[in-house]
Amino acid sequence: MHVCVIGAGIVGLSTAYKLSEQGFRVTVIDAAASVACGASGNNGAQLSYSYVQPLADASIWLQLPKLLLSRSSPLTFKPQWDLRQWQWCIAFLKACNRSRAHQTTAHLLELATQSRQAFDAMLARENLNCHFSNSGKLVLYQTSESFLHAKKQMLLQRSMGCVQEALSATQCIATEPALDNYAGSIAGGIYTASECAVDTLALCKGLESILRQRGVQFLFNHSVNRLELSNQKIVAAHTPSHTIEANSFVLAGGVGSVRLAQTLQITLPIYPLKGYSVTYDLPPLGANSQPIAPTVNVTDFARKIVFARLGAKLRVAGMAELVGNDTTVSTAAIHQLTEATTSIFPKLGSVQAQEPWSGLRPATPTGIPIVGSLMGAPSNLFFNTGHGGLGLTLAFGSATQIALAMRKS
Ligand SMILES: Cc1cc2nc3c(=O)[nH]c(=O)nc-3n(C[C@H](O)[C@H](O)[C@H](O)COP(=O)(O)OP(=O)(O)OC[C@H]3O[C@@H](n4cnc5c(N)ncnc54)[C@H](O)[C@@H]3O)c2cc1C
Repeated sequence: MHVCVIGAGIVGLSTAYKLSEQGFRVTVIDAAASVACGASGNNGAQLSYSYVQPLADASIWLQLPKLLLSRSSPLTFKPQWDLRQWQWCIAFLKACNRSRAHQTTAHLLELATQSRQAFDAMLARENLNCHFSNSGKLVLYQTSESFLHAKKQMLLQRSMGCVQEALSATQCIATEPALDNYAGSIAGGIYTASECAVDTLALCKGLESILRQRGVQFLFNHSVNRLELSNQKIVAAHTPSHTIEANSFVLAGGVGSVRLAQTLQITLPIYPLKGYSVTYDLPPLGANSQPIAPTVNVTDFARKIVFARLGAKLRVAGMAELVGNDTTVSTAAIHQLTEATTSIFPKLGSVQAQEPWSGLRPATPTGIPIVGSLMGAPSNLFFNTGHGGLGLTLAFGSATQIALAMRKS
């Protein structure tokens, strides 16, 4: 059976990995020239299996005025002449209540557990050079109110099987000594020892090479502009120069999934949530030198910025902009990232930030990705999209679900 996967980001590649493992013949198509050119490439690099609390949370109502009005806010909203933007915002605000957030947390924790199992099995089997580390993750809170709220979430997640601990400022520094100069700004932190980090671009390149060895075909620089329907089934994907016939199709196009689904009159509730990253090349440390950068994944909750160590590099990522499909790298946003970095890790002040990057998270209003077939859609069209800010974390879990659904179909 031949499956055509549209999209060679982390979600499409992990889908191709699981499908080829199950013996399906797979073709991967992408509009870009190589893998991970969308939201995946230089993302925050965090495998946040336990930190899945959705953005759509009841606490957003109290934070909203500051998030929208403050000049240093990590959230930017630029109203567009785009009905989809307004529909998405309304659906997002509707999802910002306790019971919905609890349901989403439970759903994402289950998917994340499945993802961890599938990812670890893949890592144990393959020889990948992708700077994977069992880094642990420390989320820092600057105010006692936000720390209290985080502790409540930790207790909720504990009842769902997560092992996390609340740390005082002193314990945070003991866990990550590079935070030494930031002690005065920390009210407390939530530490999850089991979280990991991985270089998504290196992972995607490694997966491509494994998939090619398995006989998976790649078609780059091919944008699918039409899915041909016949007798309620998709029979072919059309690019301007090629027609790819297959038995089943997986739409894993990130934010690009929306336009392609629309050609079949299917509306996906996905809107781009733009984010940025920079990468620091870290200088080698002398024998007794103080650490200048973290080895633990650190998140500054107030600034919504994440730090992950990737070998001799530090990835810094964050911000959330509702500005449509614009991918320009804003100098102001990059400046905000580097300023935050030097305020938290001042010894990095002398190191130049590299590779300014932006990506569009394919965000659903609730935070739950769209995985599987959809009612009213052709039965051989599977969706694997809308992973928002957790696509790296959840990719192998949703890929496993797609492979299972396809085997049953
Ligand atoms: C700043 C930032 C930091 C992040 N940090 C993290 C993190 O730390 N941990 C985490 O788990 N997640 C993180 N994420 C989220 C994660 O990166 C995304 O959820 C994930 O990359 C989505 O993967 P994808 O494969 O669905 O989409 P993409 O990577 O965008 O890939 C989709 C691909 O489909 C192709 N495509 C689209 N339409 C078509 C078409 N019609 N024809 C052919 N090809 C098409 C595109 O060219 C693209 O290559 C972050 C995201 C950002 C922006």
